[in-house]
Amino acid sequence: MIALLRFLKPYRLHLVVIFILAVAQSAANLYLPNLMSDIVNKGIAAFNTEFIWTAGGIMAAVAVAGMLCALVGIYISSRVATGMCRSLRSELFRTVQLFSLHEFDMVSPATLITRTTNDTNQIQQVMVMMLGLLITAPITLVVGIILALNQDVYLSWILLAIMPVLIGVILFLLVKAVPLFSAMQVKLDRLNLILDENLTGVRVVRAFNRISHEEQRFDAANRDVTDLGIRVNQLISVMMPVMMLLINISSVAIIWFGGHRVVSMHLELGAMFAFLQYAIQILFSLLMVALLFIMIPRAEASAKRINEILAIEPDIRNPARAIRNSDTSGRVEFDGVTFTYAGAEKPALSGISFRALPGKTTAIIGGTGSGKSTLVNLILRFYDIQKGKILVDGTETKKMSQKDLRAKIGFVPQKAVLFAGTVAENLRYGKPDATLPELRRAARIAQAESFIEDMPGAFDAQVAQGGTNVSGGQMQRLSIARALVRKPEIYIFDDTFSALDFKTDAMLRKALREETKKSSVIIVAQRVSTIIGADQIIVLDDGKIAGIGTHTELLKTCTIYREIVSSQLSAPEMERETA
Ligand code: ADP
Ligand code: MG
Repeated sequence: MIALLRFLKPYRLHLVVIFILAVAQSAANLYLPNLMSDIVNKGIAAFNTEFIWTAGGIMAAVAVAGMLCALVGIYISSRVATGMCRSLRSELFRTVQLFSLHEFDMVSPATLITRTTNDTNQIQQVMVMMLGLLITAPITLVVGIILALNQDVYLSWILLAIMPVLIGVILFLLVKAVPLFSAMQVKLDRLNLILDENLTGVRVVRAFNRISHEEQRFDAANRDVTDLGIRVNQLISVMMPVMMLLINISSVAIIWFGGHRVVSMHLELGAMFAFLQYAIQILFSLLMVALLFIMIPRAEASAKRINEILAIEPDIRNPARAIRNSDTSGRVEFDGVTFTYAGAEKPALSGISFRALPGKTTAIIGGTGSGKSTLVNLILRFYDIQKGKILVDGTETKKMSQKDLRAKIGFVPQKAVLFAGTVAENLRYGKPDATLPELRRAARIAQAESFIEDMPGAFDAQVAQGGTNVSGGQMQRLSIARALVRKPEIYIFDDTFSALDFKTDAMLRKALREETKKSSVIIVAQRVSTIIGADQIIVLDDGKIAGIGTHTELLKTCTIYREIVSSQLSAPEMERETA
C-alpha cells in the first residue's frame, strides 16, 4: 500500500487542499460543543434570549461551514482516489505490455484482469475513506479528549473505561477479517479463470455436452466467493451495532453521572452537554478509524497483488546500448542455440545451428512437439536463449532493440489472431500507413482477395472479436496478408499452410515466391508437399536437428525425413517428386 502512494504524487496540490479542509472541518466540529455550553450557561440559564439568538446564529454558521468543508473535501478526495487508480491501471497495463512470453507463462490472464479491475477498485475505495479520515479522525481524537478534559476531568473516567472495550472489539474483528480478504481476491481470480475458460472454449463445452459440468464448476466457485463475502460482511455488520451500543451506553453514563454532578453543583449544565458532545465525537471518530482499519488490510491484500505485477522485471529487456545495423538483407543465423523453457526438465531445443539466407526458403519440418514453433519464436526473441547465438543481419538479436528486430520480420503465428475491427484495420496492423492498393496486393498474394470482396463492405467489413466470423483458413490468409503488408526482410510462417486446402496452399506459395524473392523465408510445415521445393529443409526431432539439406539430399541421408515423407506420399509420388 505504501509503495502505491507514489501514484498520489501528481495530486500534491489536491492533498494540501484536502488537508486544509479537514483541519477546518475538525475545528468547526470541535468548536460547536463550546458554543452549545455557552448557550446553555449564559443563554438558557440566564434567560438571555438575545444571547441565545446570536450564539445560536454563530453555531448554525459554524455548522454549515464545517459541512461545506466536509463536502468539498469528499469531492476532492474522490477525484484524487479515482485519478490515482486510473494511473494504477495504466501502469499495470503498461507493465503487462512489456512482458515477454515467459512472464505470460507465469501469470494467467484471469488474475491480470482481476488485478487490473477489482484490486484497483479496492484501493480506490479505501483511498477515498482514508483521505477523508486520516486528518479529521486524529485531530478529533486528540483535541477532542483535551477539550473534554477541560470541561470535566471527573467524567473522563467514562471515556477511559469505554475506549479499551471499543479498541478490543476492533482488534477482535481485525484478526478475524484480515485472512478473509486475501482469500477473497484469490477466489475472485478463480471465478474469472473459469469464466475465461468457458468463454474461449465455448465450442468445446457445447460439443462435449459439458454445459452442466461447467455450470457446476462455476457455481462452486461462485458460491465460494459468496460464502466468503457473507462472512466478511457479517463481521463488518456486527461492528456497527456493537459500536453504536457502546456509544449509547457512554452517553447514558455521562448524563447519569454528569446529572448528579450538576445537581451537586460540581459541574455546570452547559459543560455537561459539551462533554457529552465531545464524547460522541471522539467515539464516533474511533468508530470510523475502526472501519478504516478493517478496510486497510483488504486494500493491503489488493496492493500486494498489484505490486507483484508491477515488480515483475520483464525477462527480456532492450540492451542499454542497442546496436542499429543498416544491413537489411534479412539473414538469420543460429549458432549452437540451446533453449530450455523455465521450469522444463530438458531443453526444448539443443545445439541448433543453421543459416537462412535472403532469397532462399528454409523449411522446418518435424513431429508435433519437436520444437518448431519454439525455434521461430526465438528468432523474434519472444524468449531468451541459454546457450549459443542468434544473429539477424549479422547482429546478435540480444544486442538489438526489440522494436528494430521485429520490424524486420513478418510473422504469421501458428494460431491466427485477428482483432475486432475492419479487415483493412487488421491488415494495417503492422504498417498503419499502408494504402488500399497495398492492402489489395497483399490480400491477392495471400489468396484472400476474393473472399474479402465477398464480405459485406469488402475491406471495410467488420471482423468480429477473435475473428469468429471468418473461417480458420480465411483467418490464416488474413494473417498472412497482414505480414505481407509490412514487406519485411524475413518472413516466418509457423505452420500457416496446414489450415489451407492443397490447391490454395500451392497457389499461395507460388504467389509468395514472386513476392519474397529478396527476403528470407522460413516456413514451418507439417506437409511435405508444402516444403518440397525449399532451398533447405531442417528436420527437427525432439529439439535437435536430425538432418539439414534439400528434399533429395535428405531422402538419401535422413531416416527421420524418409519416414515423414513415406507416411505422407505414396511410393510412386515419392519417385516422381524425387526424380
Ligand atoms: P512444435 O511447434 O514443433 O509442435 P513446440 O515448439 O510448440 O513444438 O514445443 C516444443 C516443446 O516445448 C514441447 O515439448 C512443448 O511441450 C514445450 N513447450 C512449448 N511451449 C512451451 C511453454 N510456453 N512453456 C513450456 N514448455 C513449452
Ligand atoms: Mg508448433
